[in-house]
Amino acid sequence: MSIQIYIDGKFYAKENAKISVFDHGLLYGDGVFEGIRSYDSCIFKLEEHLDRLWESAHTLMIEIPMSKAEMQKAIIQTLKRNGFTDSYIRCIVTRGVGDLGLDPSLCKVPTVIIITDKIKLYPEAFYVNGLNIITVPTVRNLPEAVNPSIKSLNYLNNILAKIEAKNSGCVEALMLNHQGYVAECTGDNIFMVKYQQGSAAKAELLTPPTYLGALKGITRQGIIEIAAKQKLRFEERVMTRHDLFNADEVFLTGTAAEVIPVVKIDGRVIGSGKPGAVTQKLLKGFREIVRKDGIRYSI
Ligand code: PMP
Repeated sequence: MSIQIYIDGKFYAKENAKISVFDHGLLYGDGVFEGIRSYDSCIFKLEEHLDRLWESAHTLMIEIPMSKAEMQKAIIQTLKRNGFTDSYIRCIVTRGVGDLGLDPSLCKVPTVIIITDKIKLYPEAFYVNGLNIITVPTVRNLPEAVNPSIKSLNYLNNILAKIEAKNSGCVEALMLNHQGYVAECTGDNIFMVKYQQGSAAKAELLTPPTYLGALKGITRQGIIEIAAKQKLRFEERVMTRHDLFNADEVFLTGTAAEVIPVVKIDGRVIGSGKPGAVTQKLLKGFREIVRKDGIRYSI
């Protein structure tokens, strides 16, 4: 049986789940979304994801036509319909159906879509061997233009960077901001680890502040909290490629990726060239909370 998709309070089989060609989500990328994950019938950090969805919508002056509690109920309903205990959940809210002009006030009701699907895991080799990433020429959107903290449907900035990475044989791109500081990757935040006196036991964990041009990742925040529990020193720090090249470990975080080690950037080997001890300990800590730190449901 094909999966059931939620659109504006009704369920449709995947083949029949359609929206209007006049929807401004399609015409202008005018809308917001979230990518969420459920593990063993626990929706990881659902409240945090809904808070971010509402914040993105608020900045764009899109009024989501339901409460967070109603959205939570609709997500659980969609998961139950499809019988998913482990799922990737995509919530989308568009400006709604308007006409061919830009004017958002012509769109009367935002469209709400919830897609749940089997989670496509990254190949195990990414975690075992680490990624080789490359800095791309496309810089991250200026916070003064379209702030990267808004998780909007307009992902062209990231898509251009992804194309450039793939053209160079890499699966992820390192994106700098317009001043040349490290921002994030196309779909993941970035962290580096610096050993003190050559010892992983005395390491420091660093990530760029999001004001430089990055999404406030939910996984990023989870890792910061785990680092505190593991008594790992942590700081948000403005960093350049030079800092990353000289890191002992680098890794990426995201809902789908969880924690993925990076072993090469722009042809430079990072640290030992293998996934590091601090990265692995943080990934282990992260996997221990994903079945606990969220909203539970039953099929
Ligand atoms: N940065 C970007 C640009 C993203 O699209 C994402 C989500 N895939 C992330 C970072 C990671 O955010 P999260 O941990 O909330 O999934």
